[in-house]
Amino acid sequence: MQLLHIDMMTMIFVLVVVNLISALYYLVYIRLTKPRTPMRFFIGSKAIQGISWLLRLFVFNGMFPMLIILADVTMTFGFALEAILFVHFKGLLKKGLRAFFIGSLGFVLTTSVILWNDAGPTRNVILLIAYFTYMALAAWSLLFSHDATVFQRVIGVCYGIIPLASVALYLSVLSEVSTPGHPTSLNGLLYYVSILSMQIIGSVGFLLAVGERDEQHLLEIASRDALTGILNRKAFFERAEVQYERAWKERHAISALMLDIDLFKGINDMHGHQVGDRVIRHLCETVLSTIRRSDLFARFGGEEFVVFLPDTGETEARALALRIHEAVQRHRVQAGGDLPAYSISMGVSSGIPAATDRIDALLADCDQAMYYCKHHGRNCAAFKPAGGKPDEIQPLCRNDACQGIE
Ligand code: GH3
Ligand code: MG
Ligand code: MG
Repeated sequence: MQLLHIDMMTMIFVLVVVNLISALYYLVYIRLTKPRTPMRFFIGSKAIQGISWLLRLFVFNGMFPMLIILADVTMTFGFALEAILFVHFKGLLKKGLRAFFIGSLGFVLTTSVILWNDAGPTRNVILLIAYFTYMALAAWSLLFSHDATVFQRVIGVCYGIIPLASVALYLSVLSEVSTPGHPTSLNGLLYYVSILSMQIIGSVGFLLAVGERDEQHLLEIASRDALTGILNRKAFFERAEVQYERAWKERHAISALMLDIDLFKGINDMHGHQVGDRVIRHLCETVLSTIRRSDLFARFGGEEFVVFLPDTGETEARALALRIHEAVQRHRVQAGGDLPAYSISMGVSSGIPAATDRIDALLADCDQAMYYCKHHGRNCAAFKPAGGKPDEIQPLCRNDACQGIE
């Protein structure tokens, strides 16, 4: 029975076209954009696989039978590059893997030379095992890397299942597809369909995965402050609003801290802007080493910072403010003459969010507490209950206790 009038030569021709057009397409693409190593692997793998199918077409047409050795080796090399592509993409390329790739290519070359005169199925079985092994490697790198996205896992599953299906289908029609002609059974046809679909799924999957990663990277850059690497104001509000909303629904206490470097203009004027920048970075490192990973720390303006503390009540927030204050002094002293003396003023506020309020209200309370410090000698911290009155502001440490720095 001849199914759909598709014969093996047509399928191989389609594989030549799909691979070569993919390679050409992306060759033009990387000429117009910044060339990247994974893209080069991608073009290499598609070009080599296309050429390999072309060689196979000549061989099956009875022309240059010796070319079968080159066809086998280029095919394996093309599969190897496709696997390297994903392994490299996930940052998993290690020395042992390189040895594995080179060793397996050597194995396919040797067996292809030994078997070149053998029109039987052995060479195809060896090739298919190489195909499955490489694709399984690609699947492994996509499925089991610690930062794999859902989409990457979906491609990983395809890389595991479809090549396995190809091997199974091939084994089920061994005698039939080992010679040129029409696939005479459904399995024979499905075997080619599985190879072709893997080519398409692999190409499209890789490019979408690159796009997804680039987009995540851009979003990450867009949410960070360039000088300090901490969150910028916009990203802070986006994330803090979500936490604020959650705390409002669950009736949890939240807290925030506003920090400002004291008389920072004087530091810039006396030591220059670069030293001023180092002071800013030093403060950020100190705060980052003191807060939890779940706290949101952002640069609010020039030398003004904010920390949002989810699920944190007044007692813990006050304690944290004092810890930050103490850490700034200690770390500054440890840095020695490398950094000019500096101090910070901090405003802290805590409470359970009210239905009518937004995060801005909590930050306004922090701001008032911070300005209390500025008006009471700086270098200290003050607390204001969320929604409280100005006369409810209390200093958290006495100025003179805080003024431990020279
Ligand atoms: P106060 O104690 O009242 O906060 O005084 P201040 O001098 O710290 O406050 P002011 O707002 O007058 O000055 C802030 C200075 O911070 C002015 C600005 O030039 C400087 N600044 C803002 N952003 C940066 C930055 O990224 N790097 C450096 N080096 N300086 C900055
Ligand atoms: Mg300041
Ligand atoms: Mg300021």
